[in-house]
Amino acid sequence: MSLGEAVVDLAAIASNVRTVAAAAGTELMAVVKANAFGHGAVPVARAAVAAGAAWLGTTSAAEALELRSAGLTAPVLSWLHPPGEDFARLIAARVDLGVSTVPHLQAIAAAARSLGTPARVHLKADTGLSRGGAVPDDWADLVAWAGKHEAAGELLVHGVWSHLANAEQPGDPGVARQIEAFEQAVRVARGAGLDPRLLHLANSAAALGVPRARFGLCRIGLALYGAGAGPGLRPAMTLRSRVVNVKRVPAGTGVSYGPDHVTTRPATLALLPLGFADGLPRSAQGRAHVWLGGRRCPIAGRIAMDQCVVDAGDLPVRLGDPVVVFGPGPAEPTVADWARWAGTNPHEILTGIGARVPRRHEHPEAHDR
Ligand SMILES: *Cc1c(COP(=O)(O)O)cnc(C)c1O
Repeated sequence: MSLGEAVVDLAAIASNVRTVAAAAGTELMAVVKANAFGHGAVPVARAAVAAGAAWLGTTSAAEALELRSAGLTAPVLSWLHPPGEDFARLIAARVDLGVSTVPHLQAIAAAARSLGTPARVHLKADTGLSRGGAVPDDWADLVAWAGKHEAAGELLVHGVWSHLANAEQPGDPGVARQIEAFEQAVRVARGAGLDPRLLHLANSAAALGVPRARFGLCRIGLALYGAGAGPGLRPAMTLRSRVVNVKRVPAGTGVSYGPDHVTTRPATLALLPLGFADGLPRSAQGRAHVWLGGRRCPIAGRIAMDQCVVDAGDLPVRLGDPVVVFGPGPAEPTVADWARWAGTNPHEILTGIGARVPRRHEHPEAHDR
């Protein structure tokens, strides 16, 4: 029996794939980086593919290879690689590679040459996010080198792609500028003789809210996990635990470190054995609530590394009573609530769930439907 657990509903993952696919009308890449936003990369990838996701997306080589080791055969795109990356093992595992720089392209071509297997690459244009990707001044060079290596049989340019800076605000003129910059990058690539089969720009927010950004494929993270706003999406993760200590205290009792909180009336305090090491951000102090005894009860005082104290008021709480930190809502708090309380986004809440919290996957049969 663990102190808490993250229950992941794979039927919700499958349902979200179908919901976004219907809304976007494109193929989908299930983005399973960072252990599928904390949900468990392999079970989520299986459920997403079974529900119709055509692609899997990862940040790192290790994440891509984990999917292959688990027997997943769907196309995988991996997009962030250090200088000196061992590209040969990625090419051998049929992992598509996101490429932003000429040195990376050349290292990939060299690895493909020595393997005798062409690499599949997706050239990344920087259309305004200023992270990965080649800026317009460098794009022609990247495209020209890709053409040379393609002609030499060392690689195939399967995709051209980019990433949006502010898709959550579809009316932001920056979104339209990025779409135009992307279309221009595609024209330059085609003008140089490349024939990318797949164009992709949209994340979850764009898949749902920016039709012009959809092209042939949308890369979805947050919507896959149901943690973002979108009609019909189902939150996949429930973080729950149980009360491990209960006490009745008088008014004027200090609670947790500091104490930052002193009771103003007699109160029942319930100890929750989850803290910031488990992903409950300290910064949510003073705002965060959990679901206990059929209502939302506030966390009192500082959230500690391993535990926090819930003020249950006059509720008849007993040792072992179930606590839901977040769940599908709307009764119990949601990931979006926690993000608001902590002043962050749902992505950070989900990826912050600690490694010591066991993940339990429900409805694994979702991938047979
Ligand atoms: C994380 C990521 C995504 C998914 O973004 P969401 O907003 O969670 O849908 C898509 N594309 C890239 C390149 C990413 O890094």
